[in-house]
Amino acid sequence: MKLFFNRNKTLLPRVDKIYLIARGMVLLSLIWLMFFSKFVLTDDTFFQIIIGTYTAHLILFYLSTEGKFDIKLAYLSTIIYDLVLIPLLIMYTGEVHSSYFLLFFLTISVAAYVLTNFFSFSVLVLVSAGYFLAISQSIVMNKVLNVTLNVGFFWVYYFAIVYASEFMHKSEKRLLKLLDTLNLRTSELEKYQAHLEMIFENSRVLAAILDSDSVVSELMNLLGNLLHYEGYTVVFKDANNNFYYRARFQNKQYNYQIEAVPQYAADLLDKVARQNNAVVIKDVSNREDYAKLNSNSRSVMIVRIVAHDDLRGIIIAEASKAGYFKDKDLQMLTAVAHSAALALENAELHKQTEELTITDALTSTFNYRYFAQKLEEEKLRASRYALALSLIMIDIDYFKKLNDTYGHESGNRVLEGLSEIIKECIRDVDIFARYGGEEFAVILPQTPLKDALVIGERIRFRVSEHKFESVKGEILKVTVSVGLTSYPENGHSHEELVSLADQALYRAKDEGRNLVCTN
Ligand code: GH3
Ligand code: MG
Ligand code: MG
Repeated sequence: MKLFFNRNKTLLPRVDKIYLIARGMVLLSLIWLMFFSKFVLTDDTFFQIIIGTYTAHLILFYLSTEGKFDIKLAYLSTIIYDLVLIPLLIMYTGEVHSSYFLLFFLTISVAAYVLTNFFSFSVLVLVSAGYFLAISQSIVMNKVLNVTLNVGFFWVYYFAIVYASEFMHKSEKRLLKLLDTLNLRTSELEKYQAHLEMIFENSRVLAAILDSDSVVSELMNLLGNLLHYEGYTVVFKDANNNFYYRARFQNKQYNYQIEAVPQYAADLLDKVARQNNAVVIKDVSNREDYAKLNSNSRSVMIVRIVAHDDLRGIIIAEASKAGYFKDKDLQMLTAVAHSAALALENAELHKQTEELTITDALTSTFNYRYFAQKLEEEKLRASRYALALSLIMIDIDYFKKLNDTYGHESGNRVLEGLSEIIKECIRDVDIFARYGGEEFAVILPQTPLKDALVIGERIRFRVSEHKFESVKGEILKVTVSVGLTSYPENGHSHEELVSLADQALYRAKDEGRNLVCTN
């Protein structure tokens, strides 16, 4: 059974110091009593003992408040001491006429405040008994009411203090609980904030990625390493508007194999895709419109990847515990999905921009796409206005060997140098493009075959004369084979022109290289 209330961790006031002062005042009254009172004290020795022990007690109590002794023991000993001392004091100072019964209020107060209910009530009973005992010798009829009232006050006072301190304890408990909740919420909030900061950090990484494949793999990393979902997937839509898994984490393994979402599950995704909100399913056990990634999954969260009102995909996260995903989980995944959406949009824009560029980065010539488009245009123009048109294809001889011998970087230098030579051999109106690898093409508008042959030959010759340099400064000799075709002599469409020039080029290769051939 507990004797004391636990006051070690309390928000309530500690009464030690107040009690100490009160007892100090009692000591002063005892000294006053000894030297100045009207009572003829029959036994001075007894009083000296009382003052001596009282002083000793006071010192013990003082030291306890300073932490030298256990304060609980100090309280207990003073209560026991008072139960003996006060009745004796009353007896020596006029019994029923004595005012020292007032000291009982101090004892009752402290007992009701520091002891548990059973023990404090026992103290009250002992106080009442001690009081009766102390005055029993001198009780007279006209004092009975006084004495009864005094004891009555003891009891009323006791219950008042118990009620007040109980009320305080309850309030304290409630307050402590509130503080605990507050602490919990604060730490949750801090965790959430830390997560958000990490997401923010990661979205910057995402934003810097320029191709969608890398966005997907970084997104998968984020979902796993940061959000620690048990199962998750990134779903995209194909050209026919069908959902497919772009990447999955299931059964603790990454799966980058593209696979269609089963038909029975597509409707749900379609519904999510069409609505504005994300979807959290507390328990998917009995649902037939969802295809689980992990067989033990219960909770599912489906969030759309949307940028500028454009649906770019869907992220699904799974947990094995029912009702696992809370509002803040949804908020976090939504934040991630938003970053992913912007990153995917970014990557697409980058791709489009790249496609729109028409120059080859290495040789600063036009690229294949531009070449193909221009050839078609020039061919149309030539047939519309009955103009001649020639096409030259140039391929470096034994370029692979050059790369192998002098390194790729030297090969690049040759490609750059070769481009310069070809540019010098042609007119401004001619369209010069890198056809691919070490193959170049020149479109020569309004140029008949015989003129084209001159240009082809000039290119072949200049190249063969030129001294290229490797990265280490070695002299490199390079030759090219040239295939040539002209409209209207050969071919009717731009595709035919390309294929004929290609055939001529193959012939030049076949016939020993460093040659110009035509059909
Ligand atoms: P051939 O005389 O039959 O044309 O022989 P080849 O070795 O030139 O032809 P092949 O088609 O076998 O090899 C072409 C080589 O061109 C292979 C490839 O490494 C190289 N190549 C393609 N693009 C580049 C590039 O941008 N830089 C460098 N350094 N090499 C390239
Ligand atoms: Mg080639
Ligand atoms: Mg070649």
